[in-house]
Amino acid sequence: MEPLMPQMMRAVNFAAVKHKMQRRKDMEETPYINHPIGVAYILTEEGDITDPVVIKAALLHDTIEDTDTSLEEIKKNFGEKVAAVVAEVTDDKSKPSAQRKQAQIDHAPYASHEAKLVKLADKLYNLRDLKRTTPTDWSEERVQQYFVWASKVVHGLRGTNKMLEQKLDELFQARNVKV
Ligand code: NDP
Ligand code: ZN
Repeated sequence: MEPLMPQMMRAVNFAAVKHKMQRRKDMEETPYINHPIGVAYILTEEGDITDPVVIKAALLHDTIEDTDTSLEEIKKNFGEKVAAVVAEVTDDKSKPSAQRKQAQIDHAPYASHEAKLVKLADKLYNLRDLKRTTPTDWSEERVQQYFVWASKVVHGLRGTNKMLEQKLDELFQARNVKV
């Protein structure tokens, strides 16, 4: 079995190469890679998660959805387990946005434990990002709608990680969003 450090660095590097042209939606145009690294960091630092499958899946979680990466490529480089989790957290981009948003709410309770962890950390990162600065062209109403939608997804992820759920609840409560 290959040591853990090169395994992890391969995942970080793969994500960095794949997301290299992308930026977040904030006004500063933060490099996109800050997001998957930050999601993995939330899991280790705040969620106390050390499962390499979960951390690799967090690093890779937006590669299929947002870059030219295929599921086969993830399988070949990181194995079946990581690929399965990445597939679970990937939205079907062929569907209209409203359907994709509803699908996240509907599918959340049936996700694997590993995928639920990645989703919780992903939502926590994105909500903190929205709290930090409003994306270009977003109204306050749209930000609030995102919090409401995220709370519905998180509802289906509950019972997975107390610490992450607590931090999400604090963000929802600060916005008067029902938890
Ligand atoms: P989203 O609303 O899905 O954008 C949010 C996603 O963008 C996040 O989940 C995150 O995904 C990513 N992201 C990138 N940068 C940031 C950041 N700085 N902060 C937070 N998230 C960030 O975008 P769409 O363009 O797909 O919007 C579609 C939806 O928005 C529709 O359902 C529509 O109803 C709604 N809408 C509402 C409007 C309104 O005024 N109320 C106007 C227009 C659309 P990831 O984790 O993958 O990076
Ligand atoms: Zn994400």
